[in-house]
Amino acid sequence: MAFLFESQPTTLTSAGAARHQARLVYAVLIIMTLYLAVIGSLNVFVFASYTLAALDYAGALGVFLALLYFHRSGQLLIASWLVVVIVIGVLLSFIHLAEGRNYSVIWVTILPPVAFFLLGRRAGAWLSGLVFVYVITFIYLQLPTWPPAQMTLGAWLNIVEVLLAQWFLFRLYERSRAEAFAELEHLSVTDKLTGLSNRSHLDLLLQQEIERHRRSGEPLTLVLCDLDHFKHINDEHGHLTGDKILQEFAGVLMRHMRSNDICGRWGGEEFLIICPDTAVDSAAAITNKLRAAINDTPFSNGLSVGLSFGIASLQHSQDQSDQLLRRADDALYDAKRRGRACAVIATSDGSFEPVSATTGTPL
Ligand code: GH3
Ligand code: MG
Ligand code: MG
Repeated sequence: MAFLFESQPTTLTSAGAARHQARLVYAVLIIMTLYLAVIGSLNVFVFASYTLAALDYAGALGVFLALLYFHRSGQLLIASWLVVVIVIGVLLSFIHLAEGRNYSVIWVTILPPVAFFLLGRRAGAWLSGLVFVYVITFIYLQLPTWPPAQMTLGAWLNIVEVLLAQWFLFRLYERSRAEAFAELEHLSVTDKLTGLSNRSHLDLLLQQEIERHRRSGEPLTLVLCDLDHFKHINDEHGHLTGDKILQEFAGVLMRHMRSNDICGRWGGEEFLIICPDTAVDSAAAITNKLRAAINDTPFSNGLSVGLSFGIASLQHSQDQSDQLLRRADDALYDAKRRGRACAVIATSDGSFEPVSATTGTPL
């Protein structure tokens, strides 16, 4: 019975998954408490069925206590098991009391959504399967004593209530699943430190821009940007300060980019700016604008940051992204070779042209 001890269902981000699970547990517990209380009252005031009502109220109280326990202790696994055990107890007692009549067995269909939500795939499947087998056997044994099926008010209410409960549960589950998926999707394209697009997202976006360029014929330019002597910053001020500088630099990038430029962290202290519909001269002007912004920015520990840029434009419609990136990288290497804190353009004839720091045009 190893499944009894399995942890909550895990996803790529266990903290995010636990938060979603906790919200689900709260929602399921609150809905169940209200639901059992309402059904108990129906049994008192409509059917004068006090045994069933006592069972419902006991279930409502049990679930409410599990809610309190969860709220105080935060013990997700124990609270989840408590709830599922209470639900199974209430369901089976109800089906027994009703002798399986009046469509009361339909209530057992509530179990899989609750058990799967709260206990995960394996334990949910085991427990629901066992209870289903039990109920099927119970009904089979009851068959000889059953009167012909009647659609009474109680039977009709059983069906309506179960359908409503299923509707609530699946709506809740689907919303939680969609939120968790959106969160994962965001994490998969975002650089954790800076919040900018990560490399694999940049790869994808660049590919899309190249395809758009092939259709429209508009220019497409890349600016690869590297922080100068960043290793010194780490060595002299510590890795945490280095991280902070990278975050602050990302902030400058975001504030100073044109709205349709795409920027992201290419890796380490290198950033890539994809400039759609932009010729190489305009991209060169961007590098001066960025350098001016950097000079005006107060970085942590009063540090100043130097930037080197490599600029390359897509030349032929047959150019692939890795050729374009290699040219931008070669231009960046040339900027470093020229002493850093400058921008260099990879020209169409394979040579390199520095950008004027004052006019922003090729020298
Ligand atoms: P250059 O001017 O030639 O670019 O010199 P550099 O020191 O910037 O380049 P180098 O490639 O020698 O070193 C890059 C440094 O960036 C080393 C590495 O530890 C640091 N780095 C890369 N990623 C991170 C990060 O996420 N946080 C911090 N704090 N440092 C990082
Ligand atoms: Mg560097
Ligand atoms: Mg580098």
